[in-house]
Amino acid sequence: MQVFRTISGLRDNLSTHRIRGQSIGFVPTMGNLHDGHLALIKQAKETNDIVVCSIFVNALQFGLNEDWDKYPRTYDSDCAKLDQSDCDYLFFPDDGEMYPNGLDTQSRVICPTMTDVLCGASRPGHFEGVTTVVSKLFNIVQPDEAIFGIKDYQQLAVIKRMSQDLCLPVKIVAAPIHREADGLAMSSRNSYIKKEERPKVKVLKEVLELIAQQIKAGNMDFIKLELEAKKRIQFEGFRADYVTISHSKTLQPAAIDDRQITVLGAMYTESARLIDNISICLD
Ligand code: AMP
Repeated sequence: MQVFRTISGLRDNLSTHRIRGQSIGFVPTMGNLHDGHLALIKQAKETNDIVVCSIFVNALQFGLNEDWDKYPRTYDSDCAKLDQSDCDYLFFPDDGEMYPNGLDTQSRVICPTMTDVLCGASRPGHFEGVTTVVSKLFNIVQPDEAIFGIKDYQQLAVIKRMSQDLCLPVKIVAAPIHREADGLAMSSRNSYIKKEERPKVKVLKEVLELIAQQIKAGNMDFIKLELEAKKRIQFEGFRADYVTISHSKTLQPAAIDDRQITVLGAMYTESARLIDNISICLD
């Protein structure tokens, strides 16, 4: 695997593949790679000749009181993992390469729908940071396909919508959620979870699954289902940010006759914020 730290270096290299008619799959990440990330790379290689992964901890998508400075940066072990994977090129820019004019005056990409609910409600500006950096990365890599994890369901939905709205010539591909043995969705932020909390955090996935089962069984009292789930999270000693039954595509609160439903949840442990989701189709 070859590493590029500059946009021009990566572009020059990728143009040789494009001239040969080879397709390019792209997996953007913030590093601290786990098996979920590596599965995305494997999936990208199945349908593309060349796979580019990026590692960039994007300050623009972190709020002032969030964890940008303590986000785990594990370049050496990430490279070792990528070397063993199907990744051909790693793009690893620094802040100056991505934001040469600074963050404050950076042009932004705004996706007005779907970004002020769920995680967007508790993390104002987060999705603007995501859509901006992903647009920049798409312009740098110019991939045929970009692979995103369903783990970050709202992010995937927003990027799909942005790509459609802006006619971006890239196919957005969804990859399934990779989980630990007890069901906890893998995440770089799982390292923040305290040892004593770890056995209990699976409650997030459990409450979402319970809601999905109830809906499939015909229980359409969404407000009560959401409330009971939040109570159970609280009972385990965590603070629920939201548990919401949403329309899978618009992410607006689901109506009782919606057929495509996604149940999304976020909760705070003492030092981590965890998210998860489950989708159901009622047809
Ligand atoms: P991150 O490094 O957390 O920004 O994630 C980079 C990409 O990996 C995003 O598309 C995430 O949705 C995806 N991803 C993160 N965790 C998982 C997981 N447990 N399973 C599948 N994809 C994941």
